[in-house]
Amino acid sequence: MYLIFRCDCGRVLYAKKGVATRKCTCGKTIKVKSRRILQKVETAEDASYAVQKMQEEIYGSTSFRTADEVKNNKFFKQIDRKIKKL
Ligand SMILES: [Zn+2]
Repeated sequence: MYLIFRCDCGRVLYAKKGVATRKCTCGKTIKVKSRRILQKVETAEDASYAVQKMQEEIYGSTSFRTADEVKNNKFFKQIDRKIKKL
């Protein structure tokens, strides 16, 4: 299980469940328990995808995608729907 949350700087991060802290690229160390969890996913791959999708929603960037990520995947479509509700 991976937890997805945001840093104060706005970046979206993920951490494996049970990990106490996560360092953001802005330099801040986040206490995972102190953050509102945006989403929970099962695998690191899904977490990475969800983070990328959220960053795109927030910043409107068209960041790099792999062929795997754009394939027609039911689970990813579910994530897309969840993100749109945030
Ligand atoms: Zn940050």
